[in-house]
Amino acid sequence: MTLTEKDSQYLWHPYTQHKTSQTPIAITKAEGALLWDENGKEYIDAIASWWVNPFGHSNKIIADAVYKQLTTLEHVLFGGFTHEPAVKVAEKLMEILPENQQKIFFSDNGSTAVEVAIKVALQYFFNKNEKRTTIIAFENAFHGDTFAAMAASGISFYTQAFQGMFIDVVRIPVPVKGQEQTSFEALESAIKNNNCAGFIFEPLVLGAAGMVMYEPEALAKLIQICKKNNVLTIADEVMTGFGKTGKTFAMDYVSEQPDMICLSKALTGGTIPMAITTFTQDIFDAFYDDDINKALFHGHTFTANPTGCAAVLASIDLLQTSVMQNNIERINEKHLEFQKKIEKHPKVITARTLGVIFAVEIKSNSEESYYGSMRTKLYNFFIDKGLVLRPVGNIVYILPPYIMTNEQLQKVYNTIEEAIEMV
Ligand SMILES: *Cc1c(COP(=O)(O)O)cnc(C)c1O
Repeated sequence: MTLTEKDSQYLWHPYTQHKTSQTPIAITKAEGALLWDENGKEYIDAIASWWVNPFGHSNKIIADAVYKQLTTLEHVLFGGFTHEPAVKVAEKLMEILPENQQKIFFSDNGSTAVEVAIKVALQYFFNKNEKRTTIIAFENAFHGDTFAAMAASGISFYTQAFQGMFIDVVRIPVPVKGQEQTSFEALESAIKNNNCAGFIFEPLVLGAAGMVMYEPEALAKLIQICKKNNVLTIADEVMTGFGKTGKTFAMDYVSEQPDMICLSKALTGGTIPMAITTFTQDIFDAFYDDDINKALFHGHTFTANPTGCAAVLASIDLLQTSVMQNNIERINEKHLEFQKKIEKHPKVITARTLGVIFAVEIKSNSEESYYGSMRTKLYNFFIDKGLVLRPVGNIVYILPPYIMTNEQLQKVYNTIEEAIEMV
């Protein structure tokens, strides 16, 4: 039996209707921006394996750091104990995060990073004896698949089976160009009509919605409205963090600082599942009390796993090298050139770029759903050509590992142009 056949006997895949989906491709090896399947076919990983892998697959520097940590201290419980890798990660993050961020809390994935932030926002007001139980989020947001993260997410087919079982969330429009005022007014009115505890947002780019982009000034204004009303702000940088937008964090473009930040995905360079939620001192202080009930009773068995921490430290070092910073700039310039070339194409609605993120919306005769027919046609076309791209409806986006070569990038662009002609 091939790997794929054995897989279909036992395995249940994420976001997959097994009755109608194609069989998964068995990948046996990866290096740099390339993947190879069990038949030796080569693929360019143009989405960094769901946005996690900036420095290339099977990165030797991260692997060595992980091996060294595995053979020194692989894991110890974080309840009542601490260790150097966790302390070093905290020190490193303090250097690069917006300066109001003072405390860090570990968990295991983007959803748990969000779950922690939302629970902290709710308990912050509980601890202060203030009744605030509503969370504000963007329409079409994606914050993960655990319960509070789902509640905050607005993409309906992810969450429709669970409607009526969620914490209270009010949704406001994303302040894309031309919609800024509508978004500001919706936020004002959400705050006026509900007891709002927090506002969670994907800063500058909504990833799963199809790389929807909006301006830093609009986000600054939304944060100001929250601050004026004592509503806590949560920047979900799970996708945008660690260089994707061209700066270390998307919030580095924004004049206002958030109360909390969620990190995961590229945090460990795409190697080990880990996440971090960061907080201001003021938030930490609301839990700091003689009363044990005011503590944050949240934790995970593998909290602050030292091996994960070692991967974080190696990854941030890599990100800060001039080679990597130049790579980010190089890809951004190439994207902008390609955008200029393609945005006038009669079948293109619009194209956009921020940092290493590029997206193009293709004209279609029918309303394109997330996993609709155009999406399937495009996806199969790319796979056939040896490219891993996962279009969202009629939106094709690129989010390459920063080490992707110009030749590989050119192949991605050429294939996207062919695809636009094809559909
Ligand atoms: C992927 C993602 C999450 C969820 O992260 P998981 O590790 O998949 O749980 C949350 N927020 C954003 C913005 C994401 O892109």
